[in-house]
Amino acid sequence: MGVRTGAEYLQGLRSSPRDVWVGGQRVDNVADHPAFCAVAREIAALYDMQHQPEHRDSLTALDAVTGERCGIAFEPAQTVDDLRRRREGFRLWAEASFGLLGRSPDFLNTTLLALWEDRSVFGEAGERYADSVAWYYDHVRRHDLFLSHALVPPQNDRTKQSHEQGALHLRVTGEEDGGIRISGARMIATLGPVADEILLYNLPGMKPGDEDHALICAVPASAPGLRQICRQPYVIAGERASFDHPLSTRFEENDSLLVFHDVFVPWQRVFSYRNVKLSGEMYFRTAIRNHTAYQTNTRALAKMQFATGLAMAVARSIGADTFLHVQHMLGECIGYVEHLKSGLARAEVEAERTASGTLRPALAPLQTLRTMLPQAYPRVIEILQTIGAGGFMLMPSGADLAAEEIAGDTATYYAGAQLPSIDRVKLFKLAWDLAGEAFGQRLVQYERYYAGDPVRNIAGTYLAVDDTDYRRLVDAALALAGEPQPAGAAPGSGA
Ligand SMILES: Cc1cc2nc3c(=O)[nH]c(=O)nc-3n(C[C@H](O)[C@H](O)[C@H](O)COP(=O)(O)OP(=O)(O)OC[C@H]3O[C@@H](n4cnc5c(N)ncnc54)[C@H](O)[C@@H]3O)c2cc1C
Repeated sequence: MGVRTGAEYLQGLRSSPRDVWVGGQRVDNVADHPAFCAVAREIAALYDMQHQPEHRDSLTALDAVTGERCGIAFEPAQTVDDLRRRREGFRLWAEASFGLLGRSPDFLNTTLLALWEDRSVFGEAGERYADSVAWYYDHVRRHDLFLSHALVPPQNDRTKQSHEQGALHLRVTGEEDGGIRISGARMIATLGPVADEILLYNLPGMKPGDEDHALICAVPASAPGLRQICRQPYVIAGERASFDHPLSTRFEENDSLLVFHDVFVPWQRVFSYRNVKLSGEMYFRTAIRNHTAYQTNTRALAKMQFATGLAMAVARSIGADTFLHVQHMLGECIGYVEHLKSGLARAEVEAERTASGTLRPALAPLQTLRTMLPQAYPRVIEILQTIGAGGFMLMPSGADLAAEEIAGDTATYYAGAQLPSIDRVKLFKLAWDLAGEAFGQRLVQYERYYAGDPVRNIAGTYLAVDDTDYRRLVDAALALAGEPQPAGAAPGSGA
């Protein structure tokens, strides 16, 4: 089939009714529902970009076997230039949403590439699991499907393992000739309502006893028995003006709780089953973190550049960038952006070979960026809020600007240092959509948590460190002291 168009993606949603709940109502056709249609259109626009002559070669690759094009995120890299080409594809899609769509299709497509490259890891439990990984990678790539995923058991009681919590968490409930049956809940499926498929695996840290919960598999979003209950949307199409909320009216990614009611999963879609060890080790034995972090840091670079650019524009609009402490804050933001650029480049320079002979970006710099962002992005947003200060609370609506009776006032009193009123109002509204609205607060929460608990992630950096170079320097410095000398001996002789 090759790469899809936006229309094909939307048609796919319409022709696969699902059990999605939002605002107390069941929605069969998410593509045209006011809670989801805006973001579905944005995803459709990404698919369309794959066909645009100026982007086609960056966003897609030619499949040598089928002669069809596939999304660049599926394409294994052989050289550093291939990696850079992948990054350029990620950048193009990320900048289309200013980095605000955290879960554009390329994110999980990189996960599938990682599973496929290291499918032998799954094959250790039986060749059929490796075959299933290969089949699924090929299936998603050839049909250019859009995946969501849900890895975490819902927050019921974090002091207990899943098997100690009755029937709450997703688990295997039965096995048949053709496959398995699964029931229970998982959080959070960002864009789950408008996805074609849901990928399920576990975060590291599973313990013996949780065998029924150790499961790596995939199900269609329309699978019978799979229900999605969405959080309350921040934006309903038609209720807010684009002038007042230019970002949230386009880029809100809804999130859902997945509830599985006796869902059947054929063996072809089961990649690991009742294997606590593998479920825990998958993160470390495949390139999943390398590939996803390469995509997601590229996306984060767009988001950080955008937020920093807004902070600069807001500061300049009122002349605040002439103040030292504002310059200091803007310099701090630019520093984060430069860190991202440097880390991505180092990941390419220090790229590693996978077991299957392909190339993956180096993990250490990417993981460092991933653990920096939960602090850096909220900080940039705090800086934006601090620079705009009370001005954000002052802005009239687009309807006010269009009201002739008060036009004299609105054209006069909102002007900036160098900006006419309308341009300053536009700028401040754009910035507040990002920094203040519920939509913007979710984007902060996203950067804090989307890659797992930031506390345990940073602790993990310490636990996994190769400390050779650290110890070498400390040992060399310790050697300077030499042996203890009796009192009165010549000082400073050392060893
Ligand atoms: C906007 C958004 C979108 C998301 N999208 C997705 C998605 O598409 N797919 C997906 O799978 N997930 C998604 N997530 C979920 C994300 O994976 C989790 O939020 C993340 O793993 C943290 O888990 P939690 O939220 O359950 O927090 P918890 O693990 O419940 O943590 C709550 C608090 O308790 C502390 N804590 C809990 N357990 C421990 C422990 N054992 N040791 C030390 N401290 C502990 C944490 O530090 C934290 O402060 C998303 C999250 C957000 C916010």
